[in-house]
Amino acid sequence: MTQPPLANQRVLITGASSGIGAGMAAGFAAAGAAVVVNHFGQPDAAEAIVRQIADQGGRAVAAAGDVSKPADVAGLFDIAAEAFGGVDILAANAGIQKDAAFTEMSLEEWRAALEVDLTGAFLCAQEAVRRFRRQGIDPGRSKALGKVLFTSSVHQVIPWAGHANYAAAKGGVKMLMESMAQELAPEKIRVNAIAPGAIRTPINRAAWGTPAAKQDLMRLIPYGRIGEPEDIAAAAVWLASDAADYVVGTTLFVDGGMSLYPSFAHGG
Ligand code: NAD
Repeated sequence: MTQPPLANQRVLITGASSGIGAGMAAGFAAAGAAVVVNHFGQPDAAEAIVRQIADQGGRAVAAAGDVSKPADVAGLFDIAAEAFGGVDILAANAGIQKDAAFTEMSLEEWRAALEVDLTGAFLCAQEAVRRFRRQGIDPGRSKALGKVLFTSSVHQVIPWAGHANYAAAKGGVKMLMESMAQELAPEKIRVNAIAPGAIRTPINRAAWGTPAAKQDLMRLIPYGRIGEPEDIAAAAVWLASDAADYVVGTTLFVDGGMSLYPSFAHGG
């Protein structure tokens, strides 16, 4: 019988109580991984996801923590070590938006987005790499010593008026990912990112919550539909699995073509 692609592997997913992270939790569990479901102030949602995974025969545990706080981050990996003996995959997914016109953007709004979306990703990735080294490689789990997968955004390349903090953070994630990938590949640590387009989650409800907003949004998506968390989860499972063992330092755009300059389809 063939093994599921992530059999014997352990994944820590940040921001897993909602949206894309919740989709990843279900997807990784279905692929055979034991899942640490990180949440920040959403214990009920995280526990519901853990129960759902357990009901389907998987293994999961909820873990509270703020990704922008080093002590909380260390605590998440400690929970993974206690529950499952370690972590093979970090999905650094937690993210927020604090939108404002450029001259209206407060320093607090700027800092909040950078703290969670970029510094949080850095802190989690740094701790993951330290733990991978301590654990050592185990060919029974994966060909790699460890995998780091960032949830970036199409806004790591598409400028976004009214969201300068978010776009700056995601642009930062791109270079963080690529620099880490270059530095750590010789140790057999694979670092990659997924850049989602518009995915139906609470973070961007304003973009799809009304028929008029949805119609507007469709002008930006050549493939003609909004993305679902499952679209991202499927790509994440593949990127984290040994099927992608030679994929290093890549951003996989999962965006229905949003990054293809759709306004150039008719003219230009
Ligand atoms: P979401 O709001 O549903 O999920 C974000 C998650 O991050 C939540 O679970 C939230 O509790 C958690 N979080 C927030 N601050 C945190 C902190 N300090 N510590 C730990 N967790 C924290 O939104 P989503 O769309 O699922 O977003 C997930 C990721 O996907 C984000 O990084 C976001 O930037 C990215 N993304 C989303 C879209 C989209 O269209 N939805 C597009 C591109 C990128």
